[in-house]
Amino acid sequence: MRTRRDPVKLAETGFDLAIIGGGMIGTGVARDAAMRGLKTVLFEKEDFCYGTSGRSSRMIHGGLRYLANYDLGLVREGLREREILLRIAPHLVKPLKFLIPLYGSFLHRMKLKIGMILYDLLSYDKSLPNHKYLSKEKVLDSEPALLESELHGAYVYYDSQIALTERLCMENVVSAERHGALLMNHAKVVGLIKETNAVSGVKVQDTLTGKEAEFRAKLVVNVGGPWLDEVVQGVRGKQSPLARTTKGIHLVTPKVTKDALALFAADGRAYFVMPWLDFELVGTTDTDYEQGMDAVKADVDDVEYLRSEVKKAFPRASWDQIHYTYAGVRSLLRIQGVKESSVTRRHVIYDHEKKEGLKGLVSVIGGKLTAYRGIAEDIVDVVADKLSTGPECMTAKEKLPGANVSELEKVHANMGSVAAEHGIGAETIAHLVSLYGSRYSEVLDYIKKDKRLKERICETNPDIMAEVTHAIQKESACTLSDFMLRRSLIGFRKCEGLDCCTKVANKMAKGLGWNARELASQIGAYRDEIAKRHAYERKQSPKPVPVPSSKRTAAGRLPTRSPARRSRRARRRVRRRPA
Ligand SMILES: Cc1cc2nc3c(=O)[nH]c(=O)nc-3n(C[C@H](O)[C@H](O)[C@H](O)COP(=O)(O)OP(=O)(O)OC[C@H]3O[C@@H](n4cnc5c(N)ncnc54)[C@H](O)[C@@H]3O)c2cc1C
Repeated sequence: MRTRRDPVKLAETGFDLAIIGGGMIGTGVARDAAMRGLKTVLFEKEDFCYGTSGRSSRMIHGGLRYLANYDLGLVREGLREREILLRIAPHLVKPLKFLIPLYGSFLHRMKLKIGMILYDLLSYDKSLPNHKYLSKEKVLDSEPALLESELHGAYVYYDSQIALTERLCMENVVSAERHGALLMNHAKVVGLIKETNAVSGVKVQDTLTGKEAEFRAKLVVNVGGPWLDEVVQGVRGKQSPLARTTKGIHLVTPKVTKDALALFAADGRAYFVMPWLDFELVGTTDTDYEQGMDAVKADVDDVEYLRSEVKKAFPRASWDQIHYTYAGVRSLLRIQGVKESSVTRRHVIYDHEKKEGLKGLVSVIGGKLTAYRGIAEDIVDVVADKLSTGPECMTAKEKLPGANVSELEKVHANMGSVAAEHGIGAETIAHLVSLYGSRYSEVLDYIKKDKRLKERICETNPDIMAEVTHAIQKESACTLSDFMLRRSLIGFRKCEGLDCCTKVANKMAKGLGWNARELASQIGAYRDEIAKRHAYERKQSPKPVPVPSSKRTAAGRLPTRSPARRSRRARRRVRRRPA
């Protein structure tokens, strides 16, 4: 069994590279660096994929809309990486069919046609089909809820989806560890060690025990996403921030469409509606955001904005039910004086030595989830150059750990017999394969040792108790939220895991030695996390809460926004665009 790594015990070791941030880019850097033989350590203050990476629209795409900004390089980068991800992570990254319904002026439709041709040209080496035109009748056959009036037809094109980004991130962690890297979640970098004009390491706090330790490294890479300015504040002082941060939200609703749709609002703004798990995912918005990065959530204005758009686009569907929302913060290049959506999504590697004379520190600003592997390659190239080491990047060639294709083909062909062999339903095997790819057998190994672990976590879903043990022992799950939201993803189901979280917590308590107090605190923290997704509901329709008489005056003063004030606020809001 793998026990939790104690940062204090490991601090003595010197590293080539210390990485701050365990999102897609950070874990991608750890994998690449470890594969090139660098002695690598990564610190993540919460959990792997806790930040923006776990709150994106989950598209692996070139970004059709960036063509409008003439950002051809960015689109090509995304399309190239899309193809690589389809190859190295075929169990997680899946092709996704998109429709762009054609409404509006001839000029607008011509622009879309040119966009489609360019998108095909820029993805000349793709395995996905080229775009094609669909007649109005065929569009409505396929998407009967779509607005019929003034519809001319649609273009069909293909991008890809990473439905379970959290699992992709975990695959990077597993791969990096197999190549010798040390990756610690719940380990916050609380300061950089600075000696004269060089950073020589990091001060780390284990957020589960409060213990602190210092780690020395030849180079420190800051991939803190929207927290990146906070990470370097101690050494940069009052210099202006490096990133511009904008918020984007999503609605998770009952399913409406068969395929994904790229749509335009009346003001020309683009947004998406797409199938995701058993739901429809609607997103996203793009508004400047400078409040607490950990507290980001969808507001009632954000929700109403997206809901009013989809109601217009699909007048025959009901959008009244929202299962939940989620929100994230982009870290973009700090380009001011333009609207949020016009800021490029390109990444920049900010070398503090070249820019500010501070050696040993590199920060990464911007960059898309889609391009995480290529961004990581660029970063490790810079690191390798500085450390004068030469091995080439292998991450585009070597598949991720769950992507053993022959093993995947075998299990898909023999689902029934694998299920019978282990005495569990084929539905559970299919679920395990969808989550762990060819690593599903690691979970089944636990059942071989202890038959009780094949018990379902709840009656209605295929998840089994062996996943809890596997998450603790093989995938560094340390908290209830780690398991529910970023290992099993039970927290994304319609029930949001609220029915079974106590059962899971009890199991984790045994594995991790929690006492009754810790157990209650873990359940509380998970429920708080889920409540954040519904925060907008409380503002929308405040329910009368019984208030003790002594507190009534204060409660009576709670600011409730009038509809008039809300619409004034909405008018003032900057236009929103998708990621
Ligand atoms: C609404 C929205 C939709 C998007 N949709 C898409 C999309 O469909 N496709 C796409 O390609 N891109 C999309 N993006 C962009 C994409 O999600 C991000 O660019 C990407 O996830 C950034 O990854 P990252 O690793 O840099 O940052 P993050 O995932 O935020 O990781 C940074 C990590 O650093 C950790 N950290 C911070 N401070 C410290 C510290 N002091 N010590 C240790 N750890 C620390 C954080 O906890 C966090 O986990 C979207 C973004 C948003 C906001």
